[in-house]
Amino acid sequence: MATILFDEIVFGPIHSRRLGSSLGINLLPYNGKVCSFDCIYCECGYNKDFRTKTPLPSLEEFKAALHAKLEQLKKEGTTPDVITFSGNGEPTMHPDFEEIIDYTIQMRDQYIPTTKISVLTNAMNIGKEKTFNALRKVDNNILKLDSAFIETVRLIDQPVSVNYSVEKQVELFKKFEGNFILQTMFLRGMHDGKTVDNTTEAEISAWIKIIKETKPREVMIYTVDRETPEKNLRKVPIEELKQIAKRVEELGIKTIVAG
Ligand code: SF4
Repeated sequence: MATILFDEIVFGPIHSRRLGSSLGINLLPYNGKVCSFDCIYCECGYNKDFRTKTPLPSLEEFKAALHAKLEQLKKEGTTPDVITFSGNGEPTMHPDFEEIIDYTIQMRDQYIPTTKISVLTNAMNIGKEKTFNALRKVDNNILKLDSAFIETVRLIDQPVSVNYSVEKQVELFKKFEGNFILQTMFLRGMHDGKTVDNTTEAEISAWIKIIKETKPREVMIYTVDRETPEKNLRKVPIEELKQIAKRVEELGIKTIVAG
């Protein structure tokens, strides 16, 4: 089982293969995982293996942790490329997420104005007005969609809610009017006796169709990198990821590949 859990609210800066030098924010408990998905590739492990009774950090605890870290960076003369909300699960599940984003923007402008703010989200909450508003304020709102087919999403991402629907997500993506980044994990293998492969021609064609419809300003594609809770997963070779990226770039959309 993978056990990469972040034990601080604000950590790093660390090197992120997709984002550069990144000051990480974990709005979830330090000793467990909380997510509305349960991806078979999640670096935090499966939800059931990391349940915790520890509460989420409060808004005040978050503010104190961010302020202290920014003071420290100022003393060191360090400026990260990005402040990234990810951590031990889904950051938008924090009830004060919008207030947290507002405070982060305020502090960023004061201490490290050239640093971008990114949120990695499974996009499950983008139908909620407060989450949508918060995500509209950050530089990079990076929304997950791993397949155009619900059967594949259920196999790879295992959304906890039975109401998850790709069609509904597509309609919600459109509300960003192109101001979002689409992130997709490509992978192959087996899970629960079923073949996992979201790189087949049927998968890629349907995924491209969604990109055409929702018009993200950028697409990030990546593959498994570290230990995953499902052991029977394989990386997609970088050359294949580049071929997929080429098809997106033909639409005039910048595409970042992390192999
Ligand atoms: S959405 Fe992210 S945090 Fe949640 S299970 Fe998937 S990879 Fe893990």
